[in-house]
Amino acid sequence: MLYIKVTLFSEERNYMAKPPLGNRTLIRAINRSAVLNMIKTHGSIARTDIAQFTGLSAATVTGITAELIERGLIIEKEEGDSSGGRRPILLAINPSGGYVIGIKLMEHQVIGALTDLEATIIAKHIEKFPDHSLGTITDTLVGVIDKLLLDMDIDKAKLFGVGIGLAGIIDAKKGNLRYSPIFGFRDVPLGKLLRTRLEVPVFIDNDVNTLTLTEQLFGSGQGIDNFITITIGRGVGMGIVVNGQLYRGANGGAGEFGHTVIDPEGPPCACGKRGCLETYVSDPALLKMALKAFSDGEMTEEVRTIEELNALAQVGDHTARAIFKQAGEKLGIGIANLFNIFSPQEIIISGEGVRAGELLFEPMRASIEQHVMPGLDVQDAVIRIDVWDDDVWARGAASLVLQEVFNSPLNIEKTEDNVIAF
Ligand SMILES: [Zn+2]
Repeated sequence: MLYIKVTLFSEERNYMAKPPLGNRTLIRAINRSAVLNMIKTHGSIARTDIAQFTGLSAATVTGITAELIERGLIIEKEEGDSSGGRRPILLAINPSGGYVIGIKLMEHQVIGALTDLEATIIAKHIEKFPDHSLGTITDTLVGVIDKLLLDMDIDKAKLFGVGIGLAGIIDAKKGNLRYSPIFGFRDVPLGKLLRTRLEVPVFIDNDVNTLTLTEQLFGSGQGIDNFITITIGRGVGMGIVVNGQLYRGANGGAGEFGHTVIDPEGPPCACGKRGCLETYVSDPALLKMALKAFSDGEMTEEVRTIEELNALAQVGDHTARAIFKQAGEKLGIGIANLFNIFSPQEIIISGEGVRAGELLFEPMRASIEQHVMPGLDVQDAVIRIDVWDDDVWARGAASLVLQEVFNSPLNIEKTEDNVIAF
């Protein structure tokens, strides 16, 4: 039973969740991430411009950049504009200043990628699980990480950490897997288990949150304080950035967009409820509808995969097109609700499902316009549709570690026992 607690005067609320601002170490860390982020965003930039854009004093910028050069995180390049005088020295991120491993933990396999500081994939390794026991899964994860380091001859001292993204409810702060619908695990301290074996920082989060971090650090979410990432494919997920910070909700349960109810009388959902958005939009839902249409004699061809359904719709099959149209309309209702609640500057749609293209997105846009509250000016908000690339999930998991380097400490929920030395 769902127990809703109403507290009128909360004494439990921790008003001092963040360290006090007088803390000099914290201020130094905030400034350092601001400088690093500025260099990353510009590609290469002069010290004077860093000072101007961040508002930090020239002396502070000089001190911080000297420290970052010494640690090998940034490098000097003599490439500035030489209009008349001496060429200014530009600073850039040293991609090989450190490495990160990003892992997407899937139902039957682990996809691991070794990336540099710019989340560029250097090496990739995929390993399948023989079974779903916790022992097998941790052994496979450790095996993939060791192999990536060994193959590329990377010293563990240069590994900033390991980021793991998977579907489910994850308490990122504690590194706990609270509930995994794929593996059936409840309350597994996966972060701690791996940290003990690997002796490097290990970060775990919901896979859609990791993807949202990649958008924030390296993608179209750069410099945007309020945006939402929606993923479509096997399920429907959501990552929320509010005031520059990833919003995880209490205990990491935020963003279950796929299980928001569109119609309480609708089709049954895997979660046990009825009419969730996923039952109209996810790949398995679309295939189920296609199968029914075929057995009812409404569709000429039997399709077994989402690619086949897509191909059939592309050549003009009316029923196949109607299935995508309905999915787009329902997704549009869900997104209109998100606009009403969050009023984001940008909504990024990602995931394998974007391959359906305009079959899905044309009805989606019409549906958003139809259902959003008048006066919200959604035409000013950008809806960006990602070009899908299979490496996105692993890069996302790597970003879970990279955010510790580039994001302000004020915007990161610190993970217990995880300290990156840089
Ligand atoms: Zn559901």
